Amino acid sequence: MATQDHTERIDAQLLIDGEFREGQDGGRVDVENPATRDIVGTVAEGTEADAEAAVDTAEDALAEWADRPAPDRADVFHRFADIVEERQDELARLITLEEGKPLEEAGYEASNVHTTIRYFVGETRRMRSSVTPSDQDHKQTYVKREPVGVVGLITPWNFPGMLPMWNLAPALVLGNPVVFKPATTTPLTAFRLVEWLQEAGLPDGVLNFVPGGGATVGEAILQDDRVEAVSFTGSTATGKRVAQLNAQFLRHQVLELGGKNPLIVAEDANLDQAIGAALWSSFSNAGQKCTASSRIVVEEPILEEFRERFVATTEELTVGNGLDEGVEMGPLVDEDGLEKVRKYVGIGKEEGAEVLTGASEFEDDERSTGHFYPPTIFEGHNDMRICQDEIFGPVTTLIPAADIETAYDIANDVRYGLSAAIYTTDLKKGHDAIDELEAGTVFVNQGPVGVEVQVPFGGMKESGYGRELGQAAVDNYTKQKTVYIDYSDEGRYWYLPWD
Ligand code: NAD
Repeated sequence: MATQDHTERIDAQLLIDGEFREGQDGGRVDVENPATRDIVGTVAEGTEADAEAAVDTAEDALAEWADRPAPDRADVFHRFADIVEERQDELARLITLEEGKPLEEAGYEASNVHTTIRYFVGETRRMRSSVTPSDQDHKQTYVKREPVGVVGLITPWNFPGMLPMWNLAPALVLGNPVVFKPATTTPLTAFRLVEWLQEAGLPDGVLNFVPGGGATVGEAILQDDRVEAVSFTGSTATGKRVAQLNAQFLRHQVLELGGKNPLIVAEDANLDQAIGAALWSSFSNAGQKCTASSRIVVEEPILEEFRERFVATTEELTVGNGLDEGVEMGPLVDEDGLEKVRKYVGIGKEEGAEVLTGASEFEDDERSTGHFYPPTIFEGHNDMRICQDEIFGPVTTLIPAADIETAYDIANDVRYGLSAAIYTTDLKKGHDAIDELEAGTVFVNQGPVGVEVQVPFGGMKESGYGRELGQAAVDNYTKQKTVYIDYSDEGRYWYLPWD
């Protein structure tokens, strides 16, 4: 297996008021390829002062951008989508280089980026609102939408192209300037997208890019009362802090947080399909997905067969550098991610969970240099910490369930509620699961991963607040104004005792 050459190097900068520049303290941070630990680029480190300058600029850009006719704004994004589509392979390669997922998976992510842009370009010219008849004759009521104002966008590293675009595209195209802070681990993909958006003709100041720390740049954006809406995707712990800061200003917010997602395999499931889904949803992106199936709840009559076949298929996965052909699972994103997996595998063993496969590290040169960990399956019970805490790595646990009702109870017995899935060939069970499962998204005969841009996505319980994508994005990035027009010319007043 020959590692492809990956010598390209990007030195990402901030973008403020249309100018690419260094941070005010001049700091730079290395960006590492998690498969090799080679430095693939650097990123300028923004400061609190840069965040403030970015909000100044965004505020100045607001009126003109918001007042632009929707088709003019849309033109920029048509060009942007074309650029991303033409350069999709370059984007995919960059995602693999800095985040580690295999090139094919990165290709799906890159194509999701332009799909998302094209969907929201359409949305800007619709900007659906509602007309509901007034109770009175010769009177009209309707709701109009206006851009919400300056948007703060803070994103994680696990989908460095797709997750920013889920919010950048609707926020910008609907008329809002944005201050965008990407994750420090994966800023290069975000930087490329920002460059391409400028190339597509976005006016200066409408998008401002401030990479930097969460405690510095992130908090500075959130502490600024001129920021009218915030989109945050990241861990539940950070999300709670973000919500506290947002509460000061009662601003629009959408919080997309962690998950501990169950995949139920009912006794009547098509096992070939259920195993394929368990494999993909547990181990794609090395399990670093908010929607990963980190708990697989299996009805006891089929447990033995499922266990044997799932373990055997997992052991066939090829783990390596995502740029190499045939690799099916890449590394963890960084040393912290790897350390967390090691810690939880230790906890699982101490708790008495049985290791079915994995749980011991690679010793060959290539994989012991990168942040690799083998796909790992435990068998245990739901009150173990490995079944309650988000591990965010290639670790899943089989949990036996005596019957389907018990399976629902197990699935729901967790503080998260992002996504949940069931494999069944029984129509009634499928519908019962939709009713029973406490999750923002429920999948029947699909693993709990893989969402589409035109429908809302988000979590229940501690997995989040609000929804993104689809029409929900339009709600997030517009203010609604209800209008009453009385054309009766009768001088009618409201609730008149004095008529
Ligand atoms: P994280 O919470 O550590 O960081 C997310 C972002 O927040 C980063 O840009 C970080 O720099 C910034 N940040 C950190 N502290 C901050 C603060 N005090 N103020 C403002 N910003 C701050 O999360 P992560 O490790 O980058 O990402 C993994 C987590 O994201 C997992 O929990 C995963 O489930 C979650 N996630 C959720 C979704 C979803 O849609 N629900 C999608 C992807 C990832």
